[in-house]
Amino acid sequence: SGPLNGKVVLVTGASRGIGAAIARRLAREGAAVAITYHSSRGHADKVVAEITSEGGRAVALAADSGDAEAVRATVTGTVETFGRLDILVNNAGGAHIAPIEELTVDDFDRAVAVNVRSVWVATREALRHMGDGGRIISIGSVFAERMPIPNGTTYSLTKAAIGGFTRALARELGPRAITVNNIQPGPIATDSNPSEGDFAGLMTGLTPAGRFASPDELTGLIVYLAGPESAYVTGATINIDGGYTV
Ligand code: NDP
Repeated sequence: SGPLNGKVVLVTGASRGIGAAIARRLAREGAAVAITYHSSRGHADKVVAEITSEGGRAVALAADSGDAEAVRATVTGTVETFGRLDILVNNAGGAHIAPIEELTVDDFDRAVAVNVRSVWVATREALRHMGDGGRIISIGSVFAERMPIPNGTTYSLTKAAIGGFTRALARELGPRAITVNNIQPGPIATDSNPSEGDFAGLMTGLTPAGRFASPDELTGLIVYLAGPESAYVTGATINIDGGYTV
């Protein structure tokens, strides 16, 4: 039990990495948690088992974030399982790093579908179920603001879109007392961004903290943004980046 007792949250892409850390933490704070995954069913089942072994409530729903109807169905699936939806965390995402001349229009469409359209679809469907005091939290990236390497055009543009979406939607949802915020992580050690290797060295060199963070270091801010104390924080883009963007 905790500050999120009685709340229901959907975290997309939570079989591994940042999403899994967010799901575990929100469950510990009392929320019932639905998670989505794409291919890592075993990892998703493990996250659910961890939460339920600690007395929490959790369910894993398969959905490719690139499939709009599948994303929509995870929102209704959450409501069918737990009876309501209070908090949506749009976390699922990925990067296709390649020179722009080598990318196809299909690559572009896939990047936008997974990183941007899924956020829009899940949010739109969630708003059909969310009451006053609801919370929309999306995981953007500091690469929306500062790109230290070439070949990140599609990733950077998809993550930059999240800030604009967040600001515009905050304006729209003020009257419903639903807040909308964008968290931009810096280097976080996960499967898709290991804390070793050449790229990691470049990133730590550009980061005043001089290190990668663990996914768990993002979760305190998520708890705050998901909870009742953050009612006046909306439309914000907040970096958790060890100072990378200074
Ligand atoms: P990981 O690769 O460690 O985990 C990605 C998670 O998202 C997995 O659970 C994966 O599911 C899921 N996922 C990926 N693609 C899809 C898809 N098409 N449909 C459904 N689920 C999907 O990534 P991170 O934890 O590092 O990243 C999470 C988010 O944070 C992303 O949006 C990323 O852009 C962002 N981010 C990460 C940073 C970092 O340094 N790590 C920095 C800034 C932003 P499955 O296991 O089934 O494949």
